[in-house]
Amino acid sequence: MNVPFLDLQAPYNELKSEIDAAHARCMASGWYIMGAECAAFEQEFAAYCGTRHCVGVGNGLEALHLILRAYGIGSGDEVIVPSNTYIATWLAVSYAGASPVPVEPDPVTFNLDPTRIEAAITPRTKAIMPVHLYGQPADMDAINAIARRHGLKVVEDNAQAQGARYKGRRTGALGDAAGISFYPGKNLGAFGDGGAVTTDDPEIAERVRILRNYGSRKKYFNEVMGYNSRLDELQAAFLRVKLTRLDEWNARRTKIAQAYVEALAGVAGLEMPRQAEGCEHVWHLFVVRHASRDKLQAHLTEAGVGTLIHYPVPPHLSGAYSELGLRPGAYPIAESLADSVLSLPMGPHMTQAQAEVVIEAVRSMTGST
Ligand SMILES: *Cc1c(COP(=O)(O)O)cnc(C)c1O
Repeated sequence: MNVPFLDLQAPYNELKSEIDAAHARCMASGWYIMGAECAAFEQEFAAYCGTRHCVGVGNGLEALHLILRAYGIGSGDEVIVPSNTYIATWLAVSYAGASPVPVEPDPVTFNLDPTRIEAAITPRTKAIMPVHLYGQPADMDAINAIARRHGLKVVEDNAQAQGARYKGRRTGALGDAAGISFYPGKNLGAFGDGGAVTTDDPEIAERVRILRNYGSRKKYFNEVMGYNSRLDELQAAFLRVKLTRLDEWNARRTKIAQAYVEALAGVAGLEMPRQAEGCEHVWHLFVVRHASRDKLQAHLTEAGVGTLIHYPVPPHLSGAYSELGLRPGAYPIAESLADSVLSLPMGPHMTQAQAEVVIEAVRSMTGST
């Protein structure tokens, strides 16, 4: 039996009648952008996260970028970002005209290490952008306390942890504002691109609403230089269907994660992901570490098990940020993670039998069967 890294067709197969009905409803409505579906989804998703406002936008990168614009963060400003995130977190800061300032993660939780943040704060720092990486909330109490002490905004990058809870509260409601991605592979994924901003702040919500639609509140009256970053009706309608399954599908991911943890804990050379105090992980990715990661990946490929590396090159060593002139060694924790992490198959449509295949394949490589 082959086990794909992720099956993107299975969500459609399971929800076919509802997705097809949503599709037909949108097509027949004669209204395809910024209509009733988007407004309804915004309300439903805000209620789900526990925030006062939600604004649908074009994708996760734009969600983060528009939040920074809405706060007036730009040229000459600095924003603290994790050194080991997906490059979109950094790009959102760069697009706003500000500078991303990397801070290293805790290598056990993979999330921003709060004890390292204060050393990176300067008079130019305007915000901290924690990422709930791989589906686990960052240490938000510590991050919010630092932000309050220094008068900084906290912008959650919640592209990977839709539905996760931190001390009982949902991600997306844990900072001043949050950017969410509905890229198809995310826990709440559309059938195309999509994103949203969640916040309790009415002013920021309103500014993002204006910015996403050419800087206009009223059609053809452009108050500011805005963007075209809108969540279309079809994607909003699909997301409304999928939101009703998010908790159930996250629970299915958790079951697969539990099977992995039970069967693979203690395997020589393998480091398992860990859940931090007060965090409810939603397992966007199940990321292990192994000293011979490339060998393990090759072995799993041979066994028909799909894996991926999130991420093989930290942003500071990528071509996109070559202008920073940073060399290997600049952010050693991010670099050692890039060299040792491996994401095992994970998704709400994986079966226990498939998990068993993955487990056996991992154990056979490490000789512990
Ligand atoms: C996916 C992702 C994004 C960007 O989302 P898009 O919808 O692809 O623009 C941002 N940050 C992180 C951590 C992500 O994983």
